[in-house]
Amino acid sequence: MKVGTKIISRQQLRYLERIQEGRYSSPEIVDILLKIVDDDDILEDREELHPGWIEIFENNIDSIKKIQPPIIWEKINSFFDKVVSLDSNIKDIDPKSTTMSFLLGAGASNPDPSNIPTVKQLLPQLLERGRRLDRDDVTRLADFCDSRKIDNIEDLLTAAQLATFSSRNPTILKLMNFLLYREDIEGPYEEPRYYRPWEAERLEMRRIRKFREPGAELSSVAFLQDTLQVLFGLLSSTMLPAKPNNAHKSIAEYAKSHVRSSIVTTNYDCCMDLALGEVHKDFFYQVDFSNVSKPQPISDKTILIKLHGSLNWFYCETCQEIQLVNIEQMVDSFQNDRCPYPVIGICRDCGGQRRGLQVPPLAMKFDLGPPLTRLMSEATISFEKAQLIVVVGFSFAEADIYISRMLSKSMQSSPNQKLLIVDPDYNVVDRVRRKFKASIPNFDATRIIKLAGNCSDILPRFLSGEFLKVASEPINKESASEE
Ligand SMILES: [Zn+2]
Repeated sequence: MKVGTKIISRQQLRYLERIQEGRYSSPEIVDILLKIVDDDDILEDREELHPGWIEIFENNIDSIKKIQPPIIWEKINSFFDKVVSLDSNIKDIDPKSTTMSFLLGAGASNPDPSNIPTVKQLLPQLLERGRRLDRDDVTRLADFCDSRKIDNIEDLLTAAQLATFSSRNPTILKLMNFLLYREDIEGPYEEPRYYRPWEAERLEMRRIRKFREPGAELSSVAFLQDTLQVLFGLLSSTMLPAKPNNAHKSIAEYAKSHVRSSIVTTNYDCCMDLALGEVHKDFFYQVDFSNVSKPQPISDKTILIKLHGSLNWFYCETCQEIQLVNIEQMVDSFQNDRCPYPVIGICRDCGGQRRGLQVPPLAMKFDLGPPLTRLMSEATISFEKAQLIVVVGFSFAEADIYISRMLSKSMQSSPNQKLLIVDPDYNVVDRVRRKFKASIPNFDATRIIKLAGNCSDILPRFLSGEFLKVASEPINKESASEE
């Protein structure tokens, strides 16, 4: 659906003019809106939707809501939801006097100049870089993903984790093969015998064919961890030099003027950390680092909760100690090529393996780094304290369902709490409203507020209080027509 004034049918224009001239009663207007909502030409982009309809819709919300059955309201509302970039009740929120908690997803670090790929862009980009390494295992994986049109890194990492897990547990692997493929990977027992060379060759071919069948490619699992480690190294080198964008900066400004605010993020990048540093706002991570003396939680510090770890955290699996590396120094030495980015190191305390503490975006988080599980309850506490939870660039993906549940639990326990969703995708809000309605009894969907657009543009405008004044005026038609 496109909003515009160039390709408008004569009938659409006639209806519009007559409504604007005040010739129709409210029920008649609802009837006409239903015609517009059902118009195939508009739905299939052969005709544009005149922006005047958005205004008519907003002026008639109350009378549409009164029409029975409620499905009519839902139908008209979900149609206009796709073209309205912000909900009118945003004007009721004064950012200065509202206690907010922020939740940042990958989309928050996407706008210029951070330019970190979103989940959807991540895998194709990583594999492209991986190909340049000219490593067989990485190239093979890239080919496979290309040919099967696999572009979700969560799917890949989940499969990798399951494969690694089951390859270490032969009984489980046998059972999985049987359950999924009714196949016994070992085959019936055969007496050993001598093969002539040509027979052996044929047998080898058969063996290779067999190993190409799904589930049986055991040999590659051994390389998998290593391959993923390589991909993760590439990922870190993309994220490490990333600079904060205006969304990070505006949140940092908010944090500076509000005592003990909290920011929860699923991103490993350090854009938010750097933005807080730039405005000289002290923050703490709620993590006990072995190389930092225990921070006294001073009341005016900002809490930065990095649920999935951080590029500058390192963890020894053996002694379970976490180390903090100064992010500015790390970026500096990376950019000046003084030290290559450390992927795996040796723990100086116990000689164990020390690696970056980052949880891959898995569909199942049963393998969460143990020191990070505590952060989940810290995040819950910070959500529950807020009057408004501001969600920026978080896709509410299945892989992060535990975060969606934290949010819905918080909304359920504090009935006055609101959720603001800042996302370039106009449809996220609709999806989340449906989810929350299904899980919270009598949930009022208007508690979820939409602010659609580029977060580095629209979030600073919201936080500066701009919408407090202008939200009652006709909204942002230009940005709606670009979609
Ligand atoms: Zn150790």
